[in-house]
Amino acid sequence: MSKTKIAILGAGPSGLAQLRAFEALRKAGVKDLPEIVCYEKQNDIGGMWNYTWRTGLDKNGEPVHGSMYRYLWSNGPKECLEFADYSFDRHFNQPIPSYPPREVLKDYIMGRIDKRAIFNYVRFESPVRWVTFDNDTQLFSVTVMNHKTGEQETEEFDYVIVATGHFSTPNMPYYKGMEQFPGRVLHAHDFRDALEFEGQDVLLVGGSYSAEDIGSQCYKYGAKSVTISHRGGSFGYNWPDAISEKPGFDYIDGNVVHFSDGTTQAFDAIIMCTGYIFHFPFLPDELRLETHNCLYPDNLYKGVVFQRNPKLIYLGMQDQWFTFNMFDAQAWYVRDVILGKIQLPDEQERRKDIDAWLQRHEQLDSDEKSIDFQADYIDDLTGRTDYPSFPVHQQAELFKQWLEDKKSDIMGFRNKSYPSTITGTMAAQLPKPWLEIKDDTLEGFMALKFKN
Ligand code: FAD
Ligand code: NAP
Ligand code: MG
Repeated sequence: MSKTKIAILGAGPSGLAQLRAFEALRKAGVKDLPEIVCYEKQNDIGGMWNYTWRTGLDKNGEPVHGSMYRYLWSNGPKECLEFADYSFDRHFNQPIPSYPPREVLKDYIMGRIDKRAIFNYVRFESPVRWVTFDNDTQLFSVTVMNHKTGEQETEEFDYVIVATGHFSTPNMPYYKGMEQFPGRVLHAHDFRDALEFEGQDVLLVGGSYSAEDIGSQCYKYGAKSVTISHRGGSFGYNWPDAISEKPGFDYIDGNVVHFSDGTTQAFDAIIMCTGYIFHFPFLPDELRLETHNCLYPDNLYKGVVFQRNPKLIYLGMQDQWFTFNMFDAQAWYVRDVILGKIQLPDEQERRKDIDAWLQRHEQLDSDEKSIDFQADYIDDLTGRTDYPSFPVHQQAELFKQWLEDKKSDIMGFRNKSYPSTITGTMAAQLPKPWLEIKDDTLEGFMALKFKN
C-alpha cells in the first residue's frame, strides 16, 4: 500500500500547528506516517505574523498576505493564547507583561517550532493555484506556481488541508464620493505605519477590532483627531478627547463626510476597517467553503472537516477569540482523523452534530457567551485526542475580565497583568503606560525594566 499523502496549504500558525502535530509523532518514533507537503506563498513561515512593509503585490506579483502593522500589540491577554506544551515562562525565562507587541508574541509562537524539521516539509514561494478532486481515484490534484523554479507543479494527494487564513482579502465597500475624496482611502489590510497620519484628521470606518485598534494607534502616534464611524452602534468606550464616535455615513462630498445623524465632518484620510472576505481563488465551487467571519461556519464537522468531502480539511476558519491553542486543538484532531484513530461518523450524523453547534451559535447574544462557546468547542476537540488538556475555561474567564478592563479604560487596558493558567505565574507590569511606550521592537520591549 502506498503512503497517505497530505497537502497543507499555508504555513501560518494553523498550518504550522498541523505540521507539528505530525512531527510530534515522528519524534516519538512512530513509523509509516503520511507524507506531507506544505505549500506556502511567502518566503518564510509564520503567516500573518510574518510582518511585511509591502502592500499590494509581493515580489512575485502575488497579493501581499500580511495585514499586520508596525506598533501592533496583542489585543488580548497573552495568557489566553498560551500553549499547554510551551509556556511563556519556558520561552522568556522571566515574567513578561500580559500584552506584548507583535514581534515579542511572534518570538514566542515561533519559539517552539523546530525550524530544521519543519522546513523539510515546506515549499516556499509556492502559491496554490488550483485544486481538484477525482471521484474515481479519490485523489486531489494540487497545482502550485513555484516561483523559485519559475514552473508550475502538480501533485496528487489523499488529503488537502486548507490553512490559508481569512484576514487577508479586504472587504472594501464603496461609498458615494469616494472617488473624489482628495486624501488617501485605504483598507486596514494596507495600513502599516501610524506615523503616516500624524497631524491629520482621520476617519476609521468599522465597528470591530481593526477600527478600535488602528484608531488607538493613530491617536498614540500623533493624529490630530480620530473619528470612528460605526454603522452598527457604539463601542461605548471612554475615549480620550481626540477620539470620537459617529454612526454610519451616507456619502462623501469632497473631503466632507455626511453621517447618518445629519452631522458632517472634513477628513484628511479614510481607513476602511471593514473586515475581510473568505477568498479561496484556488478552489472549485464543490470544494469551496462559503461563509463569513463567525464562530461556527456551516459545513465544517467539528469546525474542520468539510461536509461535502471529508478528505478536505479547513483549519482556523472561525472568528477568533482563541487563536493558537485552538489551532493546536484542531490540528491534533485532524491528525487523528487522518491516521484513523478517530472514526468519522457518516454524513447524516455529521450533519446532526454541525446543526447542534449551529443552533447554539444562533443563540449567542453576548461576548461572554461567545467566549464560552468557543472554549466549549476547543474542549470538545481536546477531549478527543491526546493533546495536553489545558484550562480553556479559565482562559475564557480571563477574556471576560479583559472585556471589563477595556470597558473601564480603553487606552489603559494594556497596562493590566493577569496570571498564567498554565504555570500560575503572574505577568510582569509595564514600567510605564502602554500609551507612552513607542518602541515596539523585541529588543526595545525586553530592555524595559518590568515590575513584578
Ligand atoms: P495566517 O496567519 O493568515 O496564515 C495563512 C498562510 O497561508 C500565510 O502564510 C499565507 O501566505 C498562506 N497562503 C495564503 N494563500 C495561499 C496560497 N494560495 N498558497 C499558499 N499559501 C497561501 N491573533 C492573536 O492571537 N493575537 C493578536 O494580537 C492578533 N492580532 C491580529 C492582528 C491583525 C491585524 C490580524 C488580521 C489578525 C490578528 N490575529 C491575532 C489573528 C490571526 O489571524 C492569527 O493570529 C493567525 O495568524 C491565524 O493563523 P492562520 O495560519 O490561520 O492564518
Ligand atoms: P471584523 O471583526 O470582521 O469586523 C468588520 C467590521 O466592518 C464590522 O464592524 C462590520 O460592521 C464593518 N463593516 C463591514 N462592512 C461594512 C460596510 N459596508 N460599511 C461599514 N462598516 C462595515 O474585522 P476586523 O476588525 O478587521 O478584525 C479582523 C481580525 O483581526 C480579528 O480577529 C481581530 O482580532 C484581528 N485584529 C487584531 C488586532 C490586534 O491584535 N492588535 C488589531 C486589529 C485586528 P457590521 O458589524 O455592522 O457588519
Ligand atoms: Mg486530551
